[in-house]
Amino acid sequence: MKLQFRSLGIAALWSAAFLHAAPAQPAEGPLGRPEAARLKPMILALKYVSYREPGGSPVLQEAETRALVSAVNAIYSRCSIEFRLEQFQTAVPRESGLVYQPSRMVELDPIRSRFEDPTRLVVITTGPWNRDGGLGKDGANAWTMMPGDRPAGTVLEGTFARNANLLAHELGHYLNLDHRHERDNLMNPVIYRDSTGIDPLQCERMRTAALAWRSEAIRNATPEAPTLVQTGSGAVRAGQAPQAELRARSPR
Ligand SMILES: [Zn+2]
Repeated sequence: MKLQFRSLGIAALWSAAFLHAAPAQPAEGPLGRPEAARLKPMILALKYVSYREPGGSPVLQEAETRALVSAVNAIYSRCSIEFRLEQFQTAVPRESGLVYQPSRMVELDPIRSRFEDPTRLVVITTGPWNRDGGLGKDGANAWTMMPGDRPAGTVLEGTFARNANLLAHELGHYLNLDHRHERDNLMNPVIYRDSTGIDPLQCERMRTAALAWRSEAIRNATPEAPTLVQTGSGAVRAGQAPQAELRARSPR
């Protein structure tokens, strides 16, 4: 599911940026897929926070999270987008004034704020949601803030944390994708085992959003907190990127 509270002004700005940046459609390969090989690789740094009770095991272990990100990357490979787990941490929510089992929508922003990272995309897996307060009563298991709104971040219900399609769907929202009605599309609101399709226009939209994230991450990066958000094959440490490139890359 998505959370979209963009103002019209911001939406128009993004739309304009998208139109101006619109490149030729990627060629279709023999299997009808966009030729990912023709697209410059993009790597986006990811921070994953896994909740745990005091003294308990985290909802997701680091090795499980790495396997999950690999599965997500297989889905995104057609867009030549890769998520790299640059930081994994477990957190006892109580120590930050948060609860293991959130129950209300209004609890999600404080969660995002607590773990927000200016140089990485952030995914937080909580314990199972307590549906007494309304959160998840509509069937949603995850909520993601879309570009233009803050605090950024995906909050996922731990019960479904191992579902790679769900995480891939939420990262689609993170990269500015809206819902689609085709069952086999990644952005179908109901996620089935075969809901993994991404079409070339969705790829382009996400790559445009990724460039914006990259520009923002570069602006925020410091030598102490580098980020792996990069394009091309060079190991660009974003904190060292030249200023001119920042301006040229930013669609805002
Ligand atoms: Zn959704």
